[in-house]
Amino acid sequence: MKIVLATHNAHKVEELRGILGERLGEHELLAYDGPEPVEDGATFAENALIKARAAARHTGLPAIADDSGIAVDALGGAPGIHSARYAGTRDDGDNLRLLLANLEGVADRGAAFVCAAALVDGEHEEVVTERWAGRVLETPAGEGGFGYDPVFQPAGESRSAAELGREEKNAVSHRALAFGALVERIRARLG
Ligand code: IMP
Repeated sequence: MKIVLATHNAHKVEELRGILGERLGEHELLAYDGPEPVEDGATFAENALIKARAAARHTGLPAIADDSGIAVDALGGAPGIHSARYAGTRDDGDNLRLLLANLEGVADRGAAFVCAAALVDGEHEEVVTERWAGRVLETPAGEGGFGYDPVFQPAGESRSAAELGREEKNAVSHRALAFGALVERIRARLG
């Protein structure tokens, strides 16, 4: 059975192949290269469903998608669903610098990475949302990962998410949690 991964973000495709590869080994995961829908949902879950629906409709195959971002307590949950375009440029470095600037002098550094994982198969839809709690560092650390990883320190960790190995991150991240739960539902549905 073929399943389409409805994301154009190469970092996410790689992480999802790592997270899903072993658990869905009997299914072929294809990267989606069709048109991108307008992500105008109000929540991570709505946006994940919008992406998965578009890919399922375009390909006629079951499609899975994620929508993710960082929600910062002191900023009322921002940048949240706007994480990818927080600074207006879609550039990870610009986003990260704006986040640090907006938190300058702020003592409450609590934050979470959030991921909604969706499956759309014809009329059938599933979506799961999970959080990876931690804090925003004062200065970036580490070269791994992508996006806000250099400024996110998971709870109970002394390293940033960008200093974790790829497999370490993929075992505990918001994306791992959400897709771990979704895999159970995919297996129940597609076998
Ligand atoms: P999306 O492609 O609309 O879901 O945008 C997600 C954005 O959230 C990315 O561009 C990153 O800036 C951020 N993000 C999501 N997951 C992660 C992660 O695992 N590490 C770092 N940043 C992330």
